[in-house]
Amino acid sequence: MADYTLELAHLYGDLMNTYGDYGNIIALRYYAKQIGVDVDDRLVSLNEDFDPKAYDFVLFGGGQDYEETIVANDLKAKADGLKEYIENDGPLLAVCGGFQLLGHYMEMADGTKVDGIGVMDHYTTNMTDDQVKTLNGSRLTGNIVIKNNETGEEYHGFENHQGRTFLGKGEKALGTVTTGQGNNGMDKTEGVIYHNVYGSYFHGPIFTRNGNLAKRVLATALSRKYPDINWQAKLNQVPTETF
Ligand code: GLN
Repeated sequence: MADYTLELAHLYGDLMNTYGDYGNIIALRYYAKQIGVDVDDRLVSLNEDFDPKAYDFVLFGGGQDYEETIVANDLKAKADGLKEYIENDGPLLAVCGGFQLLGHYMEMADGTKVDGIGVMDHYTTNMTDDQVKTLNGSRLTGNIVIKNNETGEEYHGFENHQGRTFLGKGEKALGTVTTGQGNNGMDKTEGVIYHNVYGSYFHGPIFTRNGNLAKRVLATALSRKYPDINWQAKLNQVPTETF
């Protein structure tokens, strides 16, 4: 057993795992292992409590409209815990449907409005909404490249969503779109950063293809739990892999 351990909650990993979002955990564990850290992951699904004090990292993956409606119902009971976790700077990666449900609402392709938990200020319209001025009626699908304006890092991925997300108060984009569509195909934003929440439409999964981001988020999680160690410096010694 390693001296350091991160406890990870995989929210609805049995329902929300489009295109292998679980691979994000494998990538985190890979980098953690190089610096002597274990990652324990636990599935937290329907009718189970989410204890905000029990976890050092949360993964909330993507799912299609149908799974999202089931999850949205159950998520209400976890909203207070998630809000506390997020406001206390808990690190969280939310992909696609997970990203959508942390906001106020998302509209399904058929126009039905599904409530999110509103712990973040974004909202998601559907692909035929009046606000959608470009590619109205089409899914946003394909390869995507974005650049984070603060670090200058470039992230590569694949997007496939009908929902159009618009960021709100206190939310910054994960990156500016250079190739592809991003949150809504209109404003060049992709994903979100809010406290230590990283949201994105990248499937595939984002951490395996973008080891620099995986290491950055891992350092954030470790520094929050074990503040006396310079984790970023340790991780800088570990080569960044593209799997
Ligand atoms: N319902 C969502 C959409 O198509 C989610 C897609 C996903 O998670 N891949 O907008």
